[in-house]
Amino acid sequence: MNVAVRRWAVVPAAGRGERFGGVAPKQYASLLGRPVLSWSVGALLAESSIDAVIVALAPGDRRWRRIPEAADARVSSCPGGTRREISVGNALAALAQIALDTDWVIVHDAARPCLHRDDLRRLIAATRTDPVGGLLAVPVSDTLKRQGNDARSQGTVAREGLWRALTPQMFRYGLLRRALALCLERERTVTDEASAVEALGLRPMLVTGRSDNVKITNPEDGALAAAILRSRERP
Ligand code: C5P
Repeated sequence: MNVAVRRWAVVPAAGRGERFGGVAPKQYASLLGRPVLSWSVGALLAESSIDAVIVALAPGDRRWRRIPEAADARVSSCPGGTRREISVGNALAALAQIALDTDWVIVHDAARPCLHRDDLRRLIAATRTDPVGGLLAVPVSDTLKRQGNDARSQGTVAREGLWRALTPQMFRYGLLRRALALCLERERTVTDEASAVEALGLRPMLVTGRSDNVKITNPEDGALAAAILRSRERP
């Protein structure tokens, strides 16, 4: 019997985004009249092969319910945690009753509102038969400096073979749960899912993504994201 493999999307959205400043956490900053999180979740909902999207929220988050995507039948939420990997782990735990170990989980940052449909499709297609899974990433194009004890450059890091890890990152449900559980058990902090999978000795596939899949971190990133999204509205 050929059982269809399902795809679940997880959006960690429980961060405080302190570098961004502002009255609201960065995932709720307004971007062309919509909260950042609305764009990020909307980009996943636009992909019909995703069965459901689960959003991990900070305790006491009262903004989420006001976002139109929160009312979508494919969307639900769960409590986030004090670290990103705890937020993702909670979302995976919330899926435990319905997800199979072989299902795919697509993890996408709430703070990345400019995910292009083609990138998501390319990631899904590239990893489809892969035993490990993979992530969108961009080869580093800047020259990299290592800081010393002060604000001066101590040296230059060769950029050959270095990539910037983006999201979405896509792994099998069982593998990702195991990888994140191991990180929590070892009290190892990871900033993306691929790091957790690498800690199992596996090698996630690097799928070239668009460099305009920016993460909102600093105040000026909002204007950049707005310009990127506006440019896509043009015929
Ligand atoms: O802080 P950073 O930008 O690296 O966070 C990446 C994503 O992880 C954001 O979408 C943020 O909301 C989420 N996050 C979370 N729970 C935390 C910390 C971050 O869901 N405790």
